Amino acid sequence: MSDPTRFDLDDRQRAMLAEMGVRVWWPSSPVAPAAEAQSAMSAVEAAPVPVAPPAVAHSVAAAAPSVAPSAAPRAPQAAPVARPAAAPESAVAIRPLADGVDRMDWATLQDTAAACQACDLCAQRKKSVFGVGDQQANWMVVGEAPGEQEDQQGEPFVGQSGQLLDNMLKAVGLSRQVQGEGGVYIANAIKCRPPGNHNPTPQELATCAPYLARQVALVQPKIILLMGRFAVQSVLQTTEPIGKLRGQVHSYQGVPVVVTYHPAYLLRNPADKAKAWADLVLALKTAQT
Ligand code: URA
Repeated sequence: MSDPTRFDLDDRQRAMLAEMGVRVWWPSSPVAPAAEAQSAMSAVEAAPVPVAPPAVAHSVAAAAPSVAPSAAPRAPQAAPVARPAAAPESAVAIRPLADGVDRMDWATLQDTAAACQACDLCAQRKKSVFGVGDQQANWMVVGEAPGEQEDQQGEPFVGQSGQLLDNMLKAVGLSRQVQGEGGVYIANAIKCRPPGNHNPTPQELATCAPYLARQVALVQPKIILLMGRFAVQSVLQTTEPIGKLRGQVHSYQGVPVVVTYHPAYLLRNPADKAKAWADLVLALKTAQT
């Protein structure tokens, strides 16, 4: 089977990979010695590398989508560690969401999420973390849940994993700071920080899901990139591991969905950045179809 992480790369595409902290050894040495491959993939934590903004269109190959995408309506932080086990589900009180979340406009939706008391995560939140970026972007990135810095600042992915996410997005010509072409909307499956960064429970994911569903309906992206297993659990309603779900195009609300590793995982497992690059390429190609 062809390896979707191996492409014919030009200099600009190599620069894109450098944005992600991925170094490659092909195609100049097509058969890489194992040790070289290991060292090529092991290094490099997300130091931003200045490059000219890459064009979105390029010629790299990726695994063909297994599902034809339907037309979409259109500060440094401590190194991340594995999340502690899920909080006991019985500890989470679930109360009804506000009426009409599925019909709200942006401002009402954001205000409602900020005041939400539907689960106990509200008790310790400093700020709800609603989303950031271009509300009409072609790309939507969905993470898992806010951490400490996000809770303080009210913006998703502002810590170390956010720096890697920004580099990954830059590698495909996207930025949360851009409105219009090249923009991206970033949200989480859960809007309030789980105390102690506990794994989101199924109830917490289910309670918060209508907010994300409405965000997707309002953005109408051409592609959704799910980062991490709790984003997957919320959106695709499956507990299948990322390794089994990536490389295919899934669907949510009629929008094509690509699954990849969470940036915090990639910081702990830099060898998998090459797979994340392949996932980005698949998302790029899917968004263009
Ligand atoms: N991890 C996430 O999934 N989301 C954030 O906002 C920060 C870290």
